[in-house]
Amino acid sequence: MLLRELCQTLNEIAPVRLAESWDNVGLLVGDESASVERVMTCLTITDASLDEAIAERADLIISHHPIPFKPLPRITSHSTTGRLLLKAIRSNLAIYSPHTAWDNAFHGINRQLATMLSVQSPTPLTPAADPELAKQGLGTGVYGKLSRRFTLEELIQKLELSLPAIRPRATHPLQQSISSIGIVCGSGGSMVGLAAQRGCDAFLTGEATYHQCLEAEALGVAMVMIGHFASEFFAMRQLADMLSRRVPEIHFWASMKDNSQF
Ligand SMILES: [Zn+2]
Repeated sequence: MLLRELCQTLNEIAPVRLAESWDNVGLLVGDESASVERVMTCLTITDASLDEAIAERADLIISHHPIPFKPLPRITSHSTTGRLLLKAIRSNLAIYSPHTAWDNAFHGINRQLATMLSVQSPTPLTPAADPELAKQGLGTGVYGKLSRRFTLEELIQKLELSLPAIRPRATHPLQQSISSIGIVCGSGGSMVGLAAQRGCDAFLTGEATYHQCLEAEALGVAMVMIGHFASEFFAMRQLADMLSRRVPEIHFWASMKDNSQF
């Protein structure tokens, strides 16, 4: 299959139009007319995940986190991003990043986390700017009522069924009882105020700063942080499985050596 065609399939799963305005998503490195046979998904391009893709003769890496992310005035070995990009380009490896398009997609990360917690009628915390996407119920983050009252401890146990490696932290005691939750994977701490406005008494994210935790406490929202990697990597495995079913002629796998496990 041509890279151009695979990009179209990725855009159907995680529409690029759903990405945040500050983001840099889609095909970031590569020749669209190249043919693709082997594709690795990972959370982040590091030396370890990139070396794995090269050793396994991948044609494309689908990295959740984009490189380059910001405009680069130069691509040299003086910066980590430049060095990794040079290595990928020398190895004929294309890079595609779905990032916030995948976070917010209909089967994307936030909705998968909502499904793990049986959130009722998940609704975006912020509707998409594109009216057509907003009409489809898409946007940034999700929130909704839980099927019954849960303690934070029960909530964490429910997550551990699907995400055994999480290292949860919370701003409130584990016996705190909650009935509705906002969810933003990755670094979602800045959205805790919006979750409070939507009436959520809990907020799940990957990581948050000390001051965002203080804000959660002041707003009376119990913030649960499960780690950036844990809140997103599972979905890169699922994306590899989803793509394998849709495009059986390409070999997809999720990185075994993505060491960005913080
Ligand atoms: Zn992330």
